[in-house]
Amino acid sequence: ISKLQTYFLSHSLQAKMSKPVQARRLEGIDKNIWVEFVKLAATYSKVNLGQGFPDFPAPDFLTEALTRALGGGNHMLHQYTRAFGHPPLVKVLAQFFEKLLGRELDPMTNVMVTVGAYQALFCCFQALVDEGDEVIIIEPFFDCYESMVKMAGGTPVFVPLRPNPPKDGKLMSSADWQLDPAELASKFSERTKAIVLNSPNNPLGKVFSREELGLIAELCVKHDVLCISDEVYEWLVYDGKQHIRIASLQGMWDRTVVVGSAGKTFSATGWKVGWVVGPDRLLQHLRTVHQNSVYHCATIAQEAVAQGFQRELMLYGKPESYFIQLPKELQRKRDWLVQSLDDVGMKPIIPEGTYFLVADISQFKSDVPDVPNSDEPYDYRFTKWMVKNKGLAAIPLSAFYSEAHKNNYTNFIRFCFAKEEATLKAANDILQKWKQEKTSS
Ligand code: PMP
Repeated sequence: ISKLQTYFLSHSLQAKMSKPVQARRLEGIDKNIWVEFVKLAATYSKVNLGQGFPDFPAPDFLTEALTRALGGGNHMLHQYTRAFGHPPLVKVLAQFFEKLLGRELDPMTNVMVTVGAYQALFCCFQALVDEGDEVIIIEPFFDCYESMVKMAGGTPVFVPLRPNPPKDGKLMSSADWQLDPAELASKFSERTKAIVLNSPNNPLGKVFSREELGLIAELCVKHDVLCISDEVYEWLVYDGKQHIRIASLQGMWDRTVVVGSAGKTFSATGWKVGWVVGPDRLLQHLRTVHQNSVYHCATIAQEAVAQGFQRELMLYGKPESYFIQLPKELQRKRDWLVQSLDDVGMKPIIPEGTYFLVADISQFKSDVPDVPNSDEPYDYRFTKWMVKNKGLAAIPLSAFYSEAHKNNYTNFIRFCFAKEEATLKAANDILQKWKQEKTSS
């Protein structure tokens, strides 16, 4: 090579290496459980009960609304809409949440539409959390809360739900996992800016009771703390339980942002339509993040979701309502998977809500030996082995815990039961065969 080429080569190499390229806010959050496990499931699984999405169709009224929006002659539905939410959608969301929260809402200032609940959460943390702020996160938690707090410069402070063994040899319920009130209170300090609440909770399926929410609300008011309330599974509550909205408790409206998802609500996770509902004094800051990042999400999807909500508003509380039919159908699926897991000895924790179920893998441990002193938690090893050797995909529970507490929860895995009957039957066949192999070996 010529002298000139050598000069440019060494110069460009130097230029490449002289500065660190990664922003400091990304340190320690580069690994992502979903990227890794979605790939594993795509490569190996015959039956995928891992990531949380339905494998049954979205309701006809929703897909028909999308088709109408596409072909209905309103070509403006293919163009930009209002940054903070397509007007028909924010209007119907305001009407709907007025009913649920028992207060008047202004569609333009109390509601904002986002790219799924994920971006709603991102806006919350970016807009409300500063360098040095502490944010309380209840474990187990949807994993992105921790990364999002860190990216905003905040410090996550974890408080675990503690399992109480059930009486009379009964199966455990997600209600048996509870906060220790003194421990929770001890996490609030001068530095606490916000608490993240997720009820119904992913991954356990816990639906927080009025008493538990009352305690959280009392502490928020006492310490002047905000509440980011992730309620994406608000309609998926079973056994006649009631989903209680913390924003409706005394003193909480002014300090709460409610996060929701059309993906979970209408079984259409790929549409990525979400929202936040809350007071203007908080939402105005979320709007600043939103207008400077994504601006808005697909107009046509917002139009179809608006029509879905208009239908549900008309049928509110009636048996034909999707928000009544879906939990009924999912409760049957939950019961089916509970039975199937209990039968093979993979003890399920009965969820009160969501479409997830956590099961105890202790009786299956002999098949997947531990590797002492490994950095990888045992439940990660177990789920990887299970998808590669049995074709069944699930998610390790310790993925929903902070680094410091992961090792206390490595005997559980999470299944998603928002699946067709045939998928759940196929999972049952795998588990039954596995059990037989175990007893005959
Ligand atoms: N919050 C929780 C608790 C979730 O489980 C999920 C999806 N798994 C989300 C938020 C994100 O929802 P979306 O798909 O609407 O972005």
